[in-house]
Amino acid sequence: MSNVPADILEGGAKLPLVEDFYTIQGEGFHAGKPAYFIRLGGCDVGCAWCDAKYAWNPKLYPPVPIETVVGRAAACAAQAIVITGGEPLLYPLAPLTAALRARGLEIFLETSGSHPFSGEFDWVCLSPKMKQPPLEEAFGRADELKVIIQSESDFDWAERNAARVGENCLLYLQPEWSVSQRITPAIVEYVKAHPEWNISVQVHKFMNIP
Ligand code: SF4
Repeated sequence: MSNVPADILEGGAKLPLVEDFYTIQGEGFHAGKPAYFIRLGGCDVGCAWCDAKYAWNPKLYPPVPIETVVGRAAACAAQAIVITGGEPLLYPLAPLTAALRARGLEIFLETSGSHPFSGEFDWVCLSPKMKQPPLEEAFGRADELKVIIQSESDFDWAERNAARVGENCLLYLQPEWSVSQRITPAIVEYVKAHPEWNISVQVHKFMNIP
């Protein structure tokens, strides 16, 4: 869900901030790296297993000036920023990414790709969702394709998305956390048989960090 009026956002000078915090990236290619997370509110995809449901309703998170969060991010020891949500591409992100770049920060995006791109990123993690598939432009922007696997039938979904990304895009399968004990053996066997894929596990959940 997102229905924050554009004029309130002032073209992206303000954004509905859920939280910002310093932690360790737990997923995908950058797993294990310290990074400052900026989580924006609002998502209209509605994944049943979403672990950020509290971020879905942007009305709960009044827009804040981006300089507020950019200042905190720049003061952090890590020089890498993860912009996540919710679905960050609901909003015009160019002002935010320009301000982060001006501070010399590396910018990573986590997105479902279901809304038009804005902003400049050093790394785009595209995590496609069947309920609201990515727009075509998202496949060309992806540095990393991260497909959540809840059941064996999701392997076909993963392959259909992999067929659309660029040749240098890294491919990850990630067990859905609530069924990971059951589904992980199937993912292990799939990746062994299809070695172009890698496995992403949510290591932050094992470390009990956000
Ligand atoms: S796209 Fe992401 S934030 Fe939105 S419902 Fe799905 S998992 Fe949650």
